[in-house]
Amino acid sequence: HTIANEQCLALVHLNIDRFRYVNDSLGHQAGDYLLSVVANRLKEVLGEEDIIGRISGDEFAFTLSRIQNEEDAMQLAEGIRLYLQEPIAIDDKEYELSVSSGMSLFPEHATKASDLVTRAEKALQKVKVEGGGSLALYELGTVSKTLERILLENELKRSVEQEYFQLEYQPKVDLKTLELTGFEALVRWNHPDLGRIPPDRFIPLAEETKVIVPLGEWILNEALAQLREWEEMGHTNLRMAVNFSTIQIEEENIVEMIQQALQCHHISPTQLEVELTESTFVNKDEMSKKIQQIRDLGATVAIDDFGTGYSSFSYIKELPVDTVKIDRAFIQDLDENEDSKAIVSAIVTLANTVGLNIVAEGVETKQHGEILASLGCHEGQGYYYSRPIAPVECVFFLEN
Ligand code: C2E
Ligand code: CA
Ligand code: CA
Ligand code: CA
Repeated sequence: HTIANEQCLALVHLNIDRFRYVNDSLGHQAGDYLLSVVANRLKEVLGEEDIIGRISGDEFAFTLSRIQNEEDAMQLAEGIRLYLQEPIAIDDKEYELSVSSGMSLFPEHATKASDLVTRAEKALQKVKVEGGGSLALYELGTVSKTLERILLENELKRSVEQEYFQLEYQPKVDLKTLELTGFEALVRWNHPDLGRIPPDRFIPLAEETKVIVPLGEWILNEALAQLREWEEMGHTNLRMAVNFSTIQIEEENIVEMIQQALQCHHISPTQLEVELTESTFVNKDEMSKKIQQIRDLGATVAIDDFGTGYSSFSYIKELPVDTVKIDRAFIQDLDENEDSKAIVSAIVTLANTVGLNIVAEGVETKQHGEILASLGCHEGQGYYYSRPIAPVECVFFLEN
């Protein structure tokens, strides 16, 4: 139960495979003594907030709460495992240990404590089967691909009804002044049993199954309700970018849906930006018409992931959009790759010529931001400024 409040948490299940004694046969008492040494070593390396439990004779489980990501967790867990494996001396004898550990992560692998334990156990089993003496992370997706898809599809439908979705928000900043200009809403699926499923895995499925239509409506309403809440705290005139799938735009009543959501949450249409991915613009004429109708409401429209689809430049001419959002693929190697820099420079020049707003996504370093500003790009978004964050953390951004 303590697990649910942590941002990131790993459960490491540890099993002491064997004591390999060097000079003498290992007596029963020595075994108990060695186990108590291991338990003390664990207490020594873990933080105050970590929990240790004894699962059985030589099996321990413990949490690692001071970690930021998977890499951290693996490093820490492996460090602990190696420390526990260090030989133990009793009198003049030295005992060697072999330690196996299996780990599962919260919330990626599960959100319930009991599921985290089962999954760490699964990972541990794998290590033992492979001979022991190492660390393994639980892997999602041991079921077959098709079965997984069917399960996901059913879960997806159920989750829309039960509201297992959440939004995170990623700040956008003005590249010249570094002031906050708004947020992009990004959907998260935290399934109670399946864990945290990334949008790249479920959005395509939601599109195929049309679940994206009710889900997208929920996303828009949730984002606008959040904006309303911030307005009431005094943070006015913020902009909110919301991703829309082409499937949603093709819906007959999409414009009315957007208009109603704006009215319902008392948000000015000028505060909303609709982000569309260019590669999915199927019927360009129909799409142009819908885009124009959305703009007639007063909202703005952005082409997302610009530069990755087909005939990007012609879209600028053919689709009546306000903003071009340059794909992060071009930003990531901006400082090393002259081609990327030339492409970004060309996009920025062209977009500026026709009076479009330009946003760069995937800004990961100070240098990226400076190069983009010097090229004439207006806004930036990326890990350098902030990762997508929960609403409570956004308040920090709004008040600093
Ligand atoms: P996107 O619209 O291109 O969103 C930007 C993605 O880049 C986000 O991934 C974000 O977390 C990630 N990102 C932001 N800054 C950086 C950075 O500096 N470096 C790197 N490497 N990545 C960065 P996320 O949240 O996993 O979303 C993935 C995609 O899922 C989105 O790509 C979008 O296509 C789709 N998606 C997310 N939320 C929604 C939604 O509400 N509706 C729809 N239709 N699609 C969504
Ligand atoms: Ca986007
Ligand atoms: Ca994008
Ligand atoms: Ca994308």
